Amino acid sequence: MRLFNTLSRALEELRPLDPPRVGLYTCGPTVYNYQHVGNYRTYIFEDCLKRALRLCGFQVKHVMNITDVGHLVSQGDEGEDKMEVGAQREGKTAWDIAKIYTDAFIQDCRSLDLLWPPEVLCKATEHIPEQIGLIQRLEAKGLIYRTSDGLYYDTAKFPGYSRLAGESHIAGIKEGFRVDANPEKRGATDFAVWKFSPKDQKRQMEWDSPWGKGFPGWHIECSAMAMKYLGESFDIHCGGVDHIPIHHSNEIAQAEGATGKPFVRIWLHGEFLLMNNAKMAKSAGGFVTLAHLKEKGFDPLDYRYHCYTAHYRKQLDFTWELLESGKTARRRLREAAAAVKGEALQPITAELDKAFRAAVGDDLNMPGAVAAVWDCLRGGAPAGAKRAFLEQAESVLALGLFRDEAQAPLPAQVQALVERRAAARAARDFKLSDELRKDLESRGILVEDTKQGQRWRRK
Ligand code: AMP
Ligand code: ZN
Repeated sequence: MRLFNTLSRALEELRPLDPPRVGLYTCGPTVYNYQHVGNYRTYIFEDCLKRALRLCGFQVKHVMNITDVGHLVSQGDEGEDKMEVGAQREGKTAWDIAKIYTDAFIQDCRSLDLLWPPEVLCKATEHIPEQIGLIQRLEAKGLIYRTSDGLYYDTAKFPGYSRLAGESHIAGIKEGFRVDANPEKRGATDFAVWKFSPKDQKRQMEWDSPWGKGFPGWHIECSAMAMKYLGESFDIHCGGVDHIPIHHSNEIAQAEGATGKPFVRIWLHGEFLLMNNAKMAKSAGGFVTLAHLKEKGFDPLDYRYHCYTAHYRKQLDFTWELLESGKTARRRLREAAAAVKGEALQPITAELDKAFRAAVGDDLNMPGAVAAVWDCLRGGAPAGAKRAFLEQAESVLALGLFRDEAQAPLPAQVQALVERRAAARAARDFKLSDELRKDLESRGILVEDTKQGQRWRRK
């Protein structure tokens, strides 16, 4: 398997530290709002990577974080914590906000058929001691200084700081640096590892530390949790291209500053999803969620197909027309799958197998992998071989090709009712759970209670 390593700017053969095991860390969501389909483009690319690694015979240990504290509104460690902003916006506590949007994220990941759950799904708020421990190691090495509002990493003392983003990019950050934003910061690329709680104000999320009450900076969580679960050096780290400067450069500085060992062997970065010629972003207003998709009658997997129309290192446009094409293409594939479903399996034609594996192993060339599927369907292979090929392709593509439509995801509103009923039953509120059962039945959904919990099916 060859992958494009942002660090070396070259295609490299994956050679895991401890084959066949592969350690994989992917940066997860900041849970102060819904994730948009742009975010999900990155998670889908990472899911394909994991699936492709499995196809190649690797055993993947995947760690994903949930950022539920410490991500400040501005990149320069200024402004409020996104969690507390979300709490204010919705009149809830920061802890409630974290729970609501973590649950929404998990539901979205399931409806996109991401391999779920990851081997480790870890929350920043549940790893405060690990983060403090890492800051102490950095402090012992003289890499940290204190200002009135927190502890900062002195990036001038970490020689490799510009390695990932490139010298010229870091020079750009230095040029754009405004000292007045934080006059106590020694260098443009220095960043907070611990912020103090404001003296006059109680924060909802704060912890005691050797330096005073406060909360961790955003970047420290990823270094601390990645090393806790994958070791001080591991194989692959992914995220969106926006993380190359700042977040991932900081992760490297923190980990390698503390250990003196290479942190990650291969860095992979997914390009943006664009809407109206700009990066889809929460801050930019118009963003599309999976709920919007479902409201318009799309299956989240139609979007998955759309993602395969561009290589992950190329930008991809989002429009409803393009999504419509994705839906049509996926329907055709599903029809083709239905046509061969009952056939006795036959060995996959070597040529087809080779074409698919070559595409997937060539830096995750998903457009090539999908083209191989269309070639197979058009070609003259026996139906049983087509079935075997499609089943194998589906293990990487996850387009629901063989999925029983009766279990296709429910519209968001109905799904919410299903979940409310499960919660009511768990709380032994049988009156409410009975009412919800009737409501669901009137919407064509039958629920039954089994030893494994509630099940639903379409009437
Ligand atoms: P965030 O919740 O902002 O930390 O983002 C979660 C993930 O989505 C990160 O890996 C980002 O790089 C990625 N991301 C954010 N916006 C986009 C976009 N428009 N297209 C693709 N990936 C994105
Ligand atoms: Zn991260």
